[in-house]
Amino acid sequence: MLLNEGAKASSFCFHTMNPDILQHSYEARRQHLRSKFGRKKISALLVTSLPNISYLTGFHGSAGVALVGVSKSLLWVDPRYTLQATEQAAGVEVIEARRGLLKQAASWLRKERIGHVGYEDATLTCRAFSGLQKAGGPRIHWVAAGGMVEDLRTVKDAAEIEWIRKAGKLTAQVFEEIRGKIRPGVRESDLAAEIEYRMKRKGAEGAAFETIVASGERSAWPHAHPSAKLLKENDLVIVDLGAILAGYAADMTRTVYLGKPSARVRTLYNKVREAQERATQVAVEGRLTGDVDAAARRVLKGSKLEQYFTHSTGHGVGLEIHEMPHVSRGDKSRLRKGCVITVEPGVYLEGFGGARIEDTILVTDGRPEVLTPATKDAWFIS
Ligand code: ZN
Ligand code: ZN
Repeated sequence: MLLNEGAKASSFCFHTMNPDILQHSYEARRQHLRSKFGRKKISALLVTSLPNISYLTGFHGSAGVALVGVSKSLLWVDPRYTLQATEQAAGVEVIEARRGLLKQAASWLRKERIGHVGYEDATLTCRAFSGLQKAGGPRIHWVAAGGMVEDLRTVKDAAEIEWIRKAGKLTAQVFEEIRGKIRPGVRESDLAAEIEYRMKRKGAEGAAFETIVASGERSAWPHAHPSAKLLKENDLVIVDLGAILAGYAADMTRTVYLGKPSARVRTLYNKVREAQERATQVAVEGRLTGDVDAAARRVLKGSKLEQYFTHSTGHGVGLEIHEMPHVSRGDKSRLRKGCVITVEPGVYLEGFGGARIEDTILVTDGRPEVLTPATKDAWFIS
């Protein structure tokens, strides 16, 4: 509870800095969604995914059901959230539901005789859907419409870009501050804790995901949890961090080496860096996300490291740390101006160590904007 108060205070502070750019246009987003109803043959969309509700209404609770109709929008919340929803979801009719959110939403649709209603089949459970059908009665024709809001979220508006830019800058600043602490004798978990503490002190709501600090042989585990292991001389150290600010995430990875690098370490790191930079250059409006992935793989293939690059090159970032589009092998999503994605190739050599470099970037019609501008100098020679 206290955390929420703190987060609100810091949001307020940012809002007063630049109110025009930082205000979300929820009604414009709902209008955009309505413009897609015809193609799906629906006259309303029942929104059950929480990030989608947040995107369309501004409500940030842990439970809620929204309906975007042709002429109005509604939000059902339980009594814990009535006041909060009324304040956050401007322009939306808030209904306090004491008998189950979905049940009451379905009864409302039944009463209003709305015939074709879209539902989010990607996230709604089978059980919840059958309850919805039962409460809505036989006259409602339910249309599977999962992905509609996620698709809109792929292209960020001005306010979203500004928040992610701030989250990215904050993330990069925290990394610059703790770089000097990445030294032999420091515990991985202590470093991760220090990073998350500093994010909050700078006004973040917290870490967008559990910070990864993986050193030595453990740096060959792409998703290692920070452990009690102490960093030591000649360790490769992967640090993957991201702050969340006003609901928006950033995502960044840097790799450092604690010592004088051997030829093998130097090649490993420099090739990953080259792959990351080449792939970033390809992330321009009109290109396919699969092209970005291919650009990274091409560099690594040239030095016989591609087989050790075992994950995709990136992902969309926004209200969720992993969202559309995928930036993976053969993916046909076309990048549009305003897409925010990560570019994060990595190479992991079992028993030796790994290297990954990741930036969150904004796609434009020219050179992409790097939203996590932290140094990539990797050699820490004491
Ligand atoms: Zn990451
Ligand atoms: Zn990532």
